[in-house]
Amino acid sequence: MNQINLNNKEYDVIIVGAGFSGLYQLICLRDQLGMNCLVVETGDDVGGTWYWNRYPGARCDTESHAYSYYFSDELLKEWTWSERYPGHAEIRRYMNFVADKFDLKKDILFNHKVTSAQYNEDKICWEITTNNKINFRSKFLITAVGCLSNANIPKIKGLENFKGKYYHTGNWPKNGVSFVDKKVGQIGTGSTGIQAVPVIAEEAKHLTVFQRTANYSVPARNKPLTENFKIHVKERFKYYRELLKKTPNGHPFEISDRLVADVQEQEMQEIYEKAWEKGGLQFRGSFSDLVTNVEANKTASDFIKNKINETVLNKKFAAILSDIDHPYAGKRPPIDTNYFETYNRDNINLVDLRSNPITQIDEKGIQTEKEHFDLDIIVFATGYDAMTGPLLNMNIVGKNNLKLQEAWEEGPKTFLGLQVPGFPNMFTITGPGSPSVLTNMPIAIEQHVEWIRDCIDFMNKKEYSTIETDAKSAEEWGNEVNNVANKTLLPTVKHSWYLGANIPGKPQVFMPYAGGLPRYRDVCENIKNNNYKEFSLN
Ligand code: NAP
Repeated sequence: MNQINLNNKEYDVIIVGAGFSGLYQLICLRDQLGMNCLVVETGDDVGGTWYWNRYPGARCDTESHAYSYYFSDELLKEWTWSERYPGHAEIRRYMNFVADKFDLKKDILFNHKVTSAQYNEDKICWEITTNNKINFRSKFLITAVGCLSNANIPKIKGLENFKGKYYHTGNWPKNGVSFVDKKVGQIGTGSTGIQAVPVIAEEAKHLTVFQRTANYSVPARNKPLTENFKIHVKERFKYYRELLKKTPNGHPFEISDRLVADVQEQEMQEIYEKAWEKGGLQFRGSFSDLVTNVEANKTASDFIKNKINETVLNKKFAAILSDIDHPYAGKRPPIDTNYFETYNRDNINLVDLRSNPITQIDEKGIQTEKEHFDLDIIVFATGYDAMTGPLLNMNIVGKNNLKLQEAWEEGPKTFLGLQVPGFPNMFTITGPGSPSVLTNMPIAIEQHVEWIRDCIDFMNKKEYSTIETDAKSAEEWGNEVNNVANKTLLPTVKHSWYLGANIPGKPQVFMPYAGGLPRYRDVCENIKNNNYKEFSLN
C-alpha cells in the first residue's frame, strides 16, 4: 500500500498518526497551505483508535451525526451513517472514505512506527526515525497519536505461563477472535469492558468477569437511523456545526441549566427516568450540577444503582455491581447495550477483585485469593497509559537534549496542550492540558488542527522559522487546568486515568482541560488574534 519514496528525506511537516487528527492535519497543511507533508502510521491502514479497537462490541458512544468531520459541507452531504452510534467497522469505512475522497493515502507511510524524534537546533529541524530504521527530517513535528493508544496490560505474576490466548482490547487481532466453546475471563469493567461483556457472553461457552471497581452505565439505546433522521442531519448540518461548537463537550446536546435542588423529588425521578429511556451520554446533562456538587451527584448515582439492583436478578452480582465507590461521571461514564442484563445469563460469573484479588495467572487460568478459574482466553479490558503514554513512547528529545520523559517526570507540562517548553516547532494535537478526552473528540481535533494550520500559515507568511512556548506559560496553563478541574468532582476519583492513577508509578496530575470547549476555543482564538504573542517566534 505504501507509495512513499523512502529516499525522500526532507519534509516541511511530519505528522505522526493517521487517525482523525492526522488525516485532517494532512488536508489542512498539504491542500490548504501547499506544504510538503508526510504522515507516519504504525498500522497498515487509516483509522487511529478504530484501527486498533476492534474488540467485540466496540462502538463509539458519541452519536454518529456528531462523530464526524464538520469541515467539509460536501463530506457531510456525501456520507450517511447507519446507526445511532457508529460501530468500529463503520468508522473505519468512514475514515477510508475520507482518505479516498481527499487522496490522503499517497502521503501516508504505513507500517512504520516512530521510535525517536530529535530536535536539531543547528539545522532547525526534527530528525525522525522509524522502527524500520528509516530517517526523515522536517521543520515541524505534529503528533496526532491519540490519547488512548498506549494499551496497558497490568503486570500480573505468571501471565507468561498462561497456555491459552490473551488479548488487550486496544490491540485486537484484525481477523477477530472466536469465543465459540471457550471459557473466557475478562479483566476490566470500564467503557470498553462494559461494551465487550454482552457480546462475548453471547458467543462464549462461559464468561467470568473480574471487576476491581464497580462502574455506572446508562443504556446507549443504539438503533438503526431512520431515513427521516438521515435526511434531517444532511439538511441541518449547519445547525449541528454551530451546536457542536457551543456545547461544553462538543456533543449534540445541551447541559440543562437547572440544579438538582430546583426540583422536587418526584420531578427529579421523572427527569432521570426520561433520560434513562432516551439513553446515551446526555444522561449527565440532566442537571447542571451533577459533576460539581456531591449531593446533587448522589441523586444520579443512587438512581443508577437502583436500576442495577432492579435489572440484575442474582442478588450477589447486583450487590457487587452496584457497590460503586465514586460519583457518577467522576470517571468517564460508559453507556451500554444490555450490560447489566447480561448478568442474568446462565453462562456468566462475576468476581469482585476487591474482596478476592488476583494473586497470579498460571498455565490454566487465573488464581485469586479464594478460587481458581480455568480459562481458554483472557481479555484485558484494562485501559491505557492515557494522554502522556503515546507521546513518551516516541522518545522525543527537544532543545539541549532535553528528553520529554525528563521534562514530564512530575507530570505533563504544556501550554494549551498544544506545545511543550523546550520542544520548538512541535505541536501535540489533543495533548494533555487540552479538552480532548472530556469532549467529542473529532470536534476537539478540528479545533486543534485548524489552530495549528493557522499558526503555521502565520509563520510562513511572516517568515518565522521557529515557534516555542516557555516554562512560565506552561506553569500558568497548568494552574488553569488544575483550577477548573478542582471545581468538579473529577480529581477526587481513585484509579482514574484522567489523573494517571490507573498506571502504577505514573505521576498523578489531572491531565485534560475541564473548562469546556467554548472557553478553551476562546483562549486559543485570542492568542491567534493577538499574533501568537504568548509564544516566542523567531
Ligand atoms: P478504563 O476506563 O481505564 O478501564 C479499565 C478497567 O480495567 C477498569 O475497570 C479498571 O479497574 C480495570 N483494571 C485496570 N488495571 C487492573 C488491574 N491491574 N486489575 C484489575 N482490574 C484492572 O479503560 P477502558 O475501558 O478501555 O476505557 C478507556 C477510555 O476509552 C474510556 O474512558 C473512554 O474515554 C474511551 N472509550 C470510549 C469508548 C467509546 O466511545 N465507545 C469505548 C471504550 C473506551 P479500576 O477502575 O479499578 O482501575
